[in-house]
Amino acid sequence: MAEDYYVILGVARNASETEIKRSFRKLAMKYHPDRNQGDPEAEEKFKQVKEAYDVLSDPQKRAAYDQCGHAGVHGAAGGGGGFSADAFSDIFGEVFEDLFGMGGGRGRGQRTRSRRGTDLRYNLELTLEEAVAGTEVEVRVPTLVACESCGGSGVRPGSSPVTCSLCHGQGVVRMQQGFFSVQQTCPNCQGSGREIRDPCPKCQGRGRVQKTKTLSVSIPPGVDSGDRIRLAGEGEAGEHGGPAGDLYVQIHVKEHPIFTREGAHLHCEVPISFTTAALGGELEVPTLVGKVMLKIPPETQTGALFRLKGKGVKPVRGGAVGDLICRVRVETPVKLNKEQVELLRQLDKSLQGGGSHHRPQEHGWLDGVKQFFEKLTSKEH
Ligand SMILES: [Zn+2]
Ligand SMILES: [Zn+2]
Repeated sequence: MAEDYYVILGVARNASETEIKRSFRKLAMKYHPDRNQGDPEAEEKFKQVKEAYDVLSDPQKRAAYDQCGHAGVHGAAGGGGGFSADAFSDIFGEVFEDLFGMGGGRGRGQRTRSRRGTDLRYNLELTLEEAVAGTEVEVRVPTLVACESCGGSGVRPGSSPVTCSLCHGQGVVRMQQGFFSVQQTCPNCQGSGREIRDPCPKCQGRGRVQKTKTLSVSIPPGVDSGDRIRLAGEGEAGEHGGPAGDLYVQIHVKEHPIFTREGAHLHCEVPISFTTAALGGELEVPTLVGKVMLKIPPETQTGALFRLKGKGVKPVRGGAVGDLICRVRVETPVKLNKEQVELLRQLDKSLQGGGSHHRPQEHGWLDGVKQFFEKLTSKEH
């Protein structure tokens, strides 16, 4: 049980899907019970190979396995004990299709061809506020549900399926193809070994009917784009009474006019007047839950960052609440009247009289320019 799945399949940990599949096919053929009748060792090997493939061929299960080992996929892979006759037939079908003409195989008796319903994905758009605070949404999902009239069996209530007349309950039929005798899934019963003579009139024997389900989905606070919520059993109904699939609600958070989100932190840009920038002051800034006062110290430059602790997002998976990070942008005044222009001219004169110590970045910038030109001219010579 505890042996590494990659070791079992004999592939590297970074093996591609194709490599995994190829290796699985090879090993499955080698250890298949039909070719190793009465060999318990081969059967055990086969089970291991199948289990390893179940996990590594499914990107989600593989990721869980890579992260948490066997514990990450326990149960999901069907475990060791969950191995059933169905697993034999499924794998056999797959291998057999590829090696058409290999022959062999035996009737696997009656199978109930009940299959798990398909998983569904629902794309849900949320505003940033909804994603951060959590919400309750109603989603309408067009899906297949089990037919109420026949309980999903597809058989007219009161009657029952009979043994398939074509394969006599074997689920497979033999066909002559040139020199080869080939065994195929029975086309009459699709391998179930049973046929429905008296189909349910409501679902025409399919066991499932189209229906748009309305579900109320509770979105926990702190979700972000890319998160998904799994609603177990809310996917399509299974075929012939098989278990239902799951519904995955895929979260997408819409762009916000003011805030951008980066994990638990929120960012926003705050324009300030150039007098506030020079003299300092206080101004109101928005947060997702209301306004707060932000103190701007004197001599603040464009690009200065101010962190408002705990005004960000509480992550859905736990952890500290993030911060709101405000980036200041100093605005140049526009639409000045004559008097204001005159005042600015006077101010400019006064500032120039004080020399360059009014312009903290000028010195560094001029030095940079000088060095740049010196380099250029030295290259020329
Ligand atoms: Zn029905
Ligand atoms: Zn049949």
